[in-house]
Amino acid sequence: MIITFLGTAAANAYPEAFCQCNHCERARALGGPSLRKRSAALINDDFLIDLGPDIMTASFLHGRSLTKVRYCLQTHAHADHLDPSHFLSRSPGYGVVGAPRLHFYASTATAQRAAQLLERDCAPASLLDPEVGERLNMAIHPVQALQSFTVGPYRVTAFPANHDPAVEPLLYAVEADGRTIFYGTDTATLLDETWQAFHRHRLRFDVVILDHTYGPDEPGSDHLSAQQFIEHAARMRAEGLLTDKARILATHVAHAGNPVHPELADFAARHGYEVAYDGLTV
Ligand SMILES: [Zn+2]
Ligand SMILES: [Zn+2]
Ligand SMILES: [Zn+2]
Repeated sequence: MIITFLGTAAANAYPEAFCQCNHCERARALGGPSLRKRSAALINDDFLIDLGPDIMTASFLHGRSLTKVRYCLQTHAHADHLDPSHFLSRSPGYGVVGAPRLHFYASTATAQRAAQLLERDCAPASLLDPEVGERLNMAIHPVQALQSFTVGPYRVTAFPANHDPAVEPLLYAVEADGRTIFYGTDTATLLDETWQAFHRHRLRFDVVILDHTYGPDEPGSDHLSAQQFIEHAARMRAEGLLTDKARILATHVAHAGNPVHPELADFAARHGYEVAYDGLTV
């Protein structure tokens, strides 16, 4: 599997559009990997994680076409991870030619929220109506935490996130070609049932991508801080959940306590992990 990070920022991107804090101003001056769009990732060329607000920009900035995307795993329905206008922007009714049918996987609450947003903004009928699915050239597959399911050539297991329960947020393990990726954002400290499920499903991760919303001197709260990130990586290693050469990457990086990319990458290297940046391919 080849993963491309289409975005690695938290909710308001980095730098934040209207913020003059030291981190945002330095990111503007430095450019490059210090400029982060809202979090999303592409696996190979057919599997998207999150139909986020910046994926089209990311697609042309980083030279990664989305025309072959057949599968989308949605973590949750917060606006920094889901822009429902994409459902229309890939439909034949809007003149789109040749897009394969999209299989969209989300928790029931997130699928319902997506349907409500689409109805409010763009379309009179429900996304959950099969006829609308036909018109939009897509199928919605509600999934539940702690279940495994097949997505084309991929095996996926969903885990409950410690995040806004109203949207039933999910974290995912994706397996293919003898490799396993864990995609873990958005979440605060992982729940006990998630740790137990890692073992029950006998998972060993080759790549761990984890929430790093708050920087080294910030406390964690609704998301992980750098310190909590380090503790999670150490626990994964101690519990035998990582392969020998596993790579651990930070994503969902906010300006709150996280310095510009080169400095954050130095901090991460001293603590045995890496910081993803937009366009990075692993
Ligand atoms: Zn988020
Ligand atoms: Zn700022
Ligand atoms: Zn969220």
